[in-house]
Amino acid sequence: MNFTSFGLTEELLSAVTKQGYTIPTPIQTQAIPVILEGRDLIGGAQTGTGKTAAFALPILHLLNQSKKRTRNPRALVLSPTRELAAQVAESFRDYGSSLPLRTTSIYGGVKINPQIAALQRGTDVLVATPGRLLDHLAQKTLNLRDIEILVLDEADRMLDMGFVRDIRKIMTFLPRKRQNLLFSATYSPEIRRLSGEILNDPAIVEVSRKNEAAEKVDQSFFAITKDQKRHLLVHFIQTHSWYQALVFVSTKHGADRLSKQLMKKGIPVGAIHGNKSQNARTRTLGDFKKGDLQVLVATDVAARGIHLEGLSHVVNFNLPQVAEDYIHRIGRTGRAGKSGEAITFVSPDEKDQWNKILKVLKTSVNVSAPEGFTPVKKDPSEDVDTRGPQRRNNSPRADQSGQHRYARSSGGGRRYASARA
Ligand code: AMP
Repeated sequence: MNFTSFGLTEELLSAVTKQGYTIPTPIQTQAIPVILEGRDLIGGAQTGTGKTAAFALPILHLLNQSKKRTRNPRALVLSPTRELAAQVAESFRDYGSSLPLRTTSIYGGVKINPQIAALQRGTDVLVATPGRLLDHLAQKTLNLRDIEILVLDEADRMLDMGFVRDIRKIMTFLPRKRQNLLFSATYSPEIRRLSGEILNDPAIVEVSRKNEAAEKVDQSFFAITKDQKRHLLVHFIQTHSWYQALVFVSTKHGADRLSKQLMKKGIPVGAIHGNKSQNARTRTLGDFKKGDLQVLVATDVAARGIHLEGLSHVVNFNLPQVAEDYIHRIGRTGRAGKSGEAITFVSPDEKDQWNKILKVLKTSVNVSAPEGFTPVKKDPSEDVDTRGPQRRNNSPRADQSGQHRYARSSGGGRRYASARA
């Protein structure tokens, strides 16, 4: 099976080649022909299976064929988070780069005016989060009457995030006759109900496992003294422009302290731990999922059981007490074959936990000093951890000279990750 058998237009085939895809993933093999036929579809597939291309390629093909002339969008993709919306829009742009089709993304947390301007210029594909989409509809800066294809991407996550009413409302702005595609990793009764309301005699395709690309987690380990950890974290967030990071700490107090310190640096941050009320936790989590918070600081206990996956960065600010928690923690990353990054700070006082983790990893890892990071002198105005750096001869050492190497154990990450599949 290769991409040529779908009958996709040349421009899309060359875009696929340019992306380096040679063999369609299972969801693509099953979904692309159904979508090209014009049928409604339920795709049981999670992030990492190649589902974005599974709908983006046929949608671009169909829009390109129909050539209806309008400034209004003709395909609408609803996404749970702005991160996903931005990523999906990017995929549409990549795949459609040789086609005369435009893609616009709209989501909250950023200014609305540039979005209004983009919509006025006209777009063929619109990728949006439900809340901001409704804002545009309320302001009449958007008209959805020409939508031919609707995609509910990660529908289960949208429901988890409480978007069901927004989705129902958005439906009232769409023409009745349209093609509907719903992607969801899970089938809850709510998903079934929503599918029943929105889809019309859908074909159901399902893939159970993520592909290997998504299982890849790049793991990096940095030797750093305890008092420098927060500075290093700020350094990473700022110099590498992280979109979002989940940062694990060992104590409730540590979570509060770190979030205050990050806040002082102007980083939008929230913390969840056992001393916070359920309401406060839910709110913080919601803000993080919406993308309003760049960093979520959490203890293992508070993070357990929450649906937070596909993050670009997971940071082990403190090593977990229970070595197996390391695996649970880094399982939150690994988004979309873009290989999530798990970054672990190892301080000399964590030697015992570190040795336990090494056993769990079953592979050799490089602990390196962070590149380009100069230890920050203690600022007396800050609320800092007062215990100074502790060194032990046989522990990982931080290189205080500023001469650093940046090494990854991507081999180890891969091995571990495929074991997780
Ligand atoms: P998604 O599930 O859509 O988030 O995509 C997962 C990742 O797989 C993305 O980074 C894609 O670029 C990549 N991908 C999608 N289709 C293929 C393919 N046929 N072969 C290799 N990689 C792919």
